[in-house]
Amino acid sequence: MKDYIVKATAYEGKVLAMGVLSTQTVQKAKEIHNLTPTTCAALGRSLTAVAMMRSMMKGGKDKVTLVIKGDGPIGNIIAVSNYLGIVKGYVGNHTVDLPLSRKGKLDVGRAVGKKGYLTVIKDIGLKEPYIGTVELQTGEIGEDIAYYFYASEQVPSAVGLGVLVGKEGNVLASGGFIIQLLPNIEEEVVSKLEESLKNISSVTELLKQEYLPEDILKHILGEKEVNILEKLDLKYECDCSQERFETAIIALGKKEIEKLIAEGQPVEAVCHFCGKKHLISEERLKELLRIAEK
Ligand SMILES: [Zn+2]
Repeated sequence: MKDYIVKATAYEGKVLAMGVLSTQTVQKAKEIHNLTPTTCAALGRSLTAVAMMRSMMKGGKDKVTLVIKGDGPIGNIIAVSNYLGIVKGYVGNHTVDLPLSRKGKLDVGRAVGKKGYLTVIKDIGLKEPYIGTVELQTGEIGEDIAYYFYASEQVPSAVGLGVLVGKEGNVLASGGFIIQLLPNIEEEVVSKLEESLKNISSVTELLKQEYLPEDILKHILGEKEVNILEKLDLKYECDCSQERFETAIIALGKKEIEKLIAEGQPVEAVCHFCGKKHLISEERLKELLRIAEK
């Protein structure tokens, strides 16, 4: 089944909910980056979250980047959605492979670390992007993002993310939800939802039972309450290009380009997000120098 995001409301529009199936997206990330089960779960949760965060933004050209910098062995995690329904990302160290946690789960918290920061960068076409940073709470990513929404955007939220990895290291299922309480919501509804969230098993457990995004939302919010607004396709895709790389070279300026030419070798850069190699010949460097001189 193809990956997708659903957007929904509930309780007369006072609850906003997103659900996502991201199995193929996370499997692609696993293949590109050669991820271990632990790093696959960490990047997979981040990609799943950023896909939903982008779907909450209104403008067609809006961009969102999630940066998680903990003190654990995985290093930085970057997840980006520059287009609706398209994500990409990478981790600092893809080889981290930890034993399962005491609860028998992939130990994302230990890989990320408990000390550090989570930053969300939202570019909505204004002069400066909106940047919100919070301290990590658990390093499990879901709770950290929920805390970000609460502390930085003042929106009480529940976030659930899960990646189920099989024995061969492939992604069997991946998905998640974000539930947000909008202002003026009745206290009664809040207590009901809190109770419901307490009782649900983990997202991974629901995915194991083949719950789809709509099913997860109905399971939490109540069968009759969920009003699906939209369904969007989701995939992993990198938007890097030779042109963008050349633009970055030009931006280095005349002196730096002259240095590169003096080295007498083509310049090679590997894209962090997709592993693609971009090569610029000496000839092309000389042309870029002329552009930079203008
Ligand atoms: Zn790329």
